[in-house]
Amino acid sequence: MIPLKKIIAALEEWAPSAYQESYDNAGLLTGSPDWAVKAVLITLDVTEEVVHEAVEKGANLIVAHHPIIFKGLKKLNGTNYVERTVIAAIKNDIAIYAIHTNLDNVATGVNYKIASILGLERVSVLAPKQGLLSKLSFFVPRENTQTVLDAVYQAGAGKIGDYSDCSFRVAGTGTFVPGAGAHPHIGAQNRKEEVQEDRVELMFPAFLENRVIAALKNAHPYEEVAYYVQALANENQEVGSGAIGLLAHEMTARSFLDFLKERLNIRVIRHTAAPGRMIQKVAVCGGSGSFMLKPARRAGADVLVTADFKYHEFFDAEGQIMVCDVGHYESEVFTKDLLFSYLSEKFDNFALYLSEVNTNPVTYHV
Ligand SMILES: [Zn+2]
Repeated sequence: MIPLKKIIAALEEWAPSAYQESYDNAGLLTGSPDWAVKAVLITLDVTEEVVHEAVEKGANLIVAHHPIIFKGLKKLNGTNYVERTVIAAIKNDIAIYAIHTNLDNVATGVNYKIASILGLERVSVLAPKQGLLSKLSFFVPRENTQTVLDAVYQAGAGKIGDYSDCSFRVAGTGTFVPGAGAHPHIGAQNRKEEVQEDRVELMFPAFLENRVIAALKNAHPYEEVAYYVQALANENQEVGSGAIGLLAHEMTARSFLDFLKERLNIRVIRHTAAPGRMIQKVAVCGGSGSFMLKPARRAGADVLVTADFKYHEFFDAEGQIMVCDVGHYESEVFTKDLLFSYLSEKFDNFALYLSEVNTNPVTYHV
């Protein structure tokens, strides 16, 4: 058995819950982090059928992409499928953890999976988010610089893309006068002191501020640590909506549609007219992705593969990009495999099941 909080920590190291959209409700929906997990069932949606499947398989944790509790739940009378599913989970002591828009928004999440199924190369986040990064500047006696840096790196600071331990420092002179109540590391009370210090700067994800500052203070030799935290307007290239990449070889629109059907294992694609050029630059967004049309057009994508386009939204393609609506379930069903391979890598020797229930509420009459 594995403590649930350990599984949650592993999932949040990959897709921090701070990266979910404001309207979302990802996280632990039923159960307690103190529970011990016997086995895990992975699903796209939680339904009553999926809860019963978990009971049958002896799994007391369901990891789902879509949060079954999405809006406020004011009553639990079993009058609709949401209430009935939650009641069934609670009655059977089953924890439900949803990893939703936070997994959409990380560079190795839902959209990366779709991109890899399509064999896209040079994949990047289509619409990186701003306001997720902060800058830390601190001042430290030169002989302690490396120890303090190592501590803040350890807390998650100093990562830029594929680079870690990124920082910048300049040497200078720090001055201070310890007051009557002070216990200075260097110098004495009421005496002017000058120390050779480094000013060190590095970036960190804003949601890690408490952890980074605690590590700084813990490793720093001074009683009072001088530091600044500044919010940055920079985009975080690793976090955002959608993904974009290149097909290994350009294709005609017709052969791309056939290729898409084959790769996603689908029978129907609702799509707009092809842009009258070969297809190579492909934007993807799992689930409801009409909000990705503008960024995809701006990036010069030949196609946008997504779902949930409404009639009038298709017009916005204006013949410049082929919008391919493949269905919400169909665009995200591979998220199950993504979760399975991540969890099986993190926890070996542990029972993990892929749900066998097809939770797609949409069927096609062809
Ligand atoms: Zn979805």
